[in-house]
Amino acid sequence: MNLKEYIANVPDFPKPGIQFKDITPLMAHGPAFRYATEQMTEFARKHHAELIVGPEARGFIFGCPVAAEMGIGFAPVRKPGKLPRETVDFNYDLEYGSNTLSMHSDAISQGQRVIIVDDLLATGGTVEATVKLIEQLGGEVVGCAFLIELEELNGRKALGDYNVMSLMQY
Ligand code: AMP
Repeated sequence: MNLKEYIANVPDFPKPGIQFKDITPLMAHGPAFRYATEQMTEFARKHHAELIVGPEARGFIFGCPVAAEMGIGFAPVRKPGKLPRETVDFNYDLEYGSNTLSMHSDAISQGQRVIIVDDLLATGGTVEATVKLIEQLGGEVVGCAFLIELEELNGRKALGDYNVMSLMQY
């Protein structure tokens, strides 16, 4: 299946110069959506995942079906102030300004094998922060799965020796 048929490129959204990859046509097409999550599930099985972690909001869309299919848990990564109980937070720099991501402090058990799932790998800042949170909580990141990878932004480099898979490359 050619998944690229279901990705809409939107130039200059949300600001000039950005080629936004809109995944909603893929989500709207049952067989394409199922195919994409099946491929991610296969990757997660291969690495014996025990927990799926996904950053809001599009990491939930792909991470939850993978977790449900495998019969394992899903833990969300959120912007600060959204999770109701005790959290760990990680702050990282963006091109302009900074960003913080949070997870519940009890989201991961010691040594748990974790796969990170998100819609898109760009600079890698989001997934790097997610790795830091998981490791701070005692988890082991055994892989990262993305629907889309923007190769020229070198996100893979930020991920060093971690196992990375993507279903589409631009
Ligand atoms: P990064 O932290 O730079 O790897 O950016 C990854 C996050 O930003 C992903 O979770 C995407 O949802 C979003 N993102 C970045 N660039 C794009 C793009 N060109 N089209 C759609 N989403 C993007």
